Amino acid sequence: MAQPTSIDSVLKEVFGYDSFRPLQREIITSVLEGQDVVAILPTGAGKSLCYQVPALARDGLTLVISPLIALMKDQVDALVANGVSATYLNSTLAFDDVSHRTAGLDAGTYKLLYAAPERIMSPGFIDSLQRWNVQCVAVDEAHCVSEWGHDFRPEYRQLSTLRNALPTVPFVALTATATPRVKDDLQSQLQLKSPQVYIASFNRPNLNYTIIPKNKPVRQVFEFISERKGEAGIIYLQSRKGTEEMAAKLSREGIKAAAYHAGLSPEVRAETQDAFLKDEVPVICATVAFGMGIDKPNVRYVIHADLPKNIESYYQETGRAGRDGLPSDCVLLYSKGDLMRNLRFLDEVTDREAANIARQQMNKMVDFAESFHCRRIDLMGYFGEQWKQENCGGCDICLTPVETWDATLESQKYLSCLFRIKQKSGFNLGANHAIEVLTGANTERIRKWGHQDLSTYGIGKETSRTDWKEISNQLIRLNYAEVDTGQFQTVGITDQGMAFLKSGEKIILKRRPGSQDDSTGRIARAGEVACDEALFAHLRTLRKEIADQRNLPPYVIFGDRTLRHISRSYPQTEEAFLDMPGVGKQKLQDLGSIFIGAVNEWLSSNPKLEFDDAPDTASAKPRPKMKSEGGLSETALATLELYQNGKNPGEIAELRNLKSTTIYGHLALAIQHQKVSPSPRDFYTEEEEEKMAEAVAKHGHEKLSPIFSALHGKLSYETIRFYIAFNYPIKEQDPDCQ
Ligand code: ADP
Ligand code: MG
Ligand code: ZN
Repeated sequence: MAQPTSIDSVLKEVFGYDSFRPLQREIITSVLEGQDVVAILPTGAGKSLCYQVPALARDGLTLVISPLIALMKDQVDALVANGVSATYLNSTLAFDDVSHRTAGLDAGTYKLLYAAPERIMSPGFIDSLQRWNVQCVAVDEAHCVSEWGHDFRPEYRQLSTLRNALPTVPFVALTATATPRVKDDLQSQLQLKSPQVYIASFNRPNLNYTIIPKNKPVRQVFEFISERKGEAGIIYLQSRKGTEEMAAKLSREGIKAAAYHAGLSPEVRAETQDAFLKDEVPVICATVAFGMGIDKPNVRYVIHADLPKNIESYYQETGRAGRDGLPSDCVLLYSKGDLMRNLRFLDEVTDREAANIARQQMNKMVDFAESFHCRRIDLMGYFGEQWKQENCGGCDICLTPVETWDATLESQKYLSCLFRIKQKSGFNLGANHAIEVLTGANTERIRKWGHQDLSTYGIGKETSRTDWKEISNQLIRLNYAEVDTGQFQTVGITDQGMAFLKSGEKIILKRRPGSQDDSTGRIARAGEVACDEALFAHLRTLRKEIADQRNLPPYVIFGDRTLRHISRSYPQTEEAFLDMPGVGKQKLQDLGSIFIGAVNEWLSSNPKLEFDDAPDTASAKPRPKMKSEGGLSETALATLELYQNGKNPGEIAELRNLKSTTIYGHLALAIQHQKVSPSPRDFYTEEEEEKMAEAVAKHGHEKLSPIFSALHGKLSYETIRFYIAFNYPIKEQDPDCQ
């Protein structure tokens, strides 16, 4: 192949792309100018091209340091498929193979050499490098050099030796980890010389974020996948057992799914990973052990069936979807009950400082999941980025059109309830208390303050608690009511609220459609590059056949994006085929006739479908349908007080510096004594409730351990305790009989 020089022609002719992604051009230019560079770009942003394009645009060899042997082979395979002369050296190669490659390096045949960091210390390697005309060293996954990163690898420390041996060769360090600590660390560990630092936005425009209430996770996941047959996805679960159960249940429903967790043997894990890469098993049910090393570009969805432990993990894990830039879905099934489980783990952590930090991070995650804000704005905000647009167009909040409704009557009920409470008791109480009065709950506080006699008692029964909460929030935002900023955050009516009660004006509030119905929280399908889906399916099969013949993962042949473009443009000539994104000269030569032939054959017996222009409006347009739910000791009472004022159990544990199990114990007791009546959905899902009901029907509710065993330990004692508390209340003794 003739040596292309301009970086645009390399991009087009070798990789088949028309334009650079954000920061790629800048980074490539700096690398070609010989500067040290730090590039911090999110997963899928296209970091590899940042050193691959310069490697092809000039003489000499680019050495790429990469941590994972499996990944190295895939990357080299992908380059070779594009006609690039690249190779790798690692411990898996036979002696003959190594000498063959070394000879090629001596002869200057290769443009790129991939090596693991430990290779640097192998005898003679540094000397050889000095012979091989190394023009650039690219350190991929450079956060591995830092103990502060999530994936420290001691071998990466040896890279300073490399720096000393090649003092004039520029280094480019690439990573997706953005924390300042890691950034500083890698600059000093790699001894970078006043590097150019590029940090991209961490927004992932093609990812669509949805959070729905978790009620029947297996069914919810199954329905979601059923509409995406053959597409690759990852389902994250918290426990090993959870991954195995989910995989087994999905398989029983005819979905090819496998479990992946750290408890499986390395052979099984390697096999599973390989089957996933090769599109043989499209669905992986995994713990967080499954992640790095999965460079698969066409993961179409990531589902969190359990609550992630913090926002950073959520971001990293969802980030594994849609590396190829095509619309992909990130779905979180959210249940407050998961918080309970996560907090319990923290009780066991002996380092209290660490446990406290983790608890705070978890509370942030809960805030994120419960918020009515744009998910993207919240997510970017967490990483310190400001997102200017009002509507991101890619999250459940922004995509579900907001309805307005006449809430005059409800506002009257709510505000006059606040007024009556204050009038009767002389002070304000928490938001939850007012809701309990409105819905006619029978709690100790209500009896204690005589609030069952208020004229507003029970007048809001037909509206769910969740809806009341939302009404309350909006009225506070609109300044009809206000929250006291003191410890207990009581809610009271404002002057504006009083004026409203007197005037009888209208109040219009917002709500999401479906927020009052009782659908099951189905997850809708995301939009994508429109194409002839039948042809696309046909081409995917073809791709798989070719990949198998060559023993390569299918995406090395062509990415989904390329196949989708072929399936909407029906290229029948070489020229038209070269226009497809992802088709460079080498692939045209190698695969052009096969795919053009397939298109011709297709059109001989199928109609050509027409599509609008602008195929790459990449942002997703799903229409997710939201479902909404709608005698104590002193210390238990203190917990209860905070709870009634709207704090969640995690926050209470943090505030009171108590174990969360203690807090949950207080709450269960309070529920059983009917001092508070939250929704059971805050503690367990419908599915879990059904299981517990069955077990209790068989074993009675007096003792927890038979129930626990009957459920095979799948649900915690606490969860069972809550179930009993809700369903077998202890009636307060009639005070007159004392
Ligand atoms: P990262 O290492 O940053 O996670 P990769 O280098 O693996 O990302 O690239 C992710 C995907 O994006 C790959 O499939 C790659 O071919 C594709 N890609 C990279 N740059 C471009 C571009 N300029 N145009 C189109 N696709 C690109
Ligand atoms: Mg990468
Ligand atoms: Zn949004």
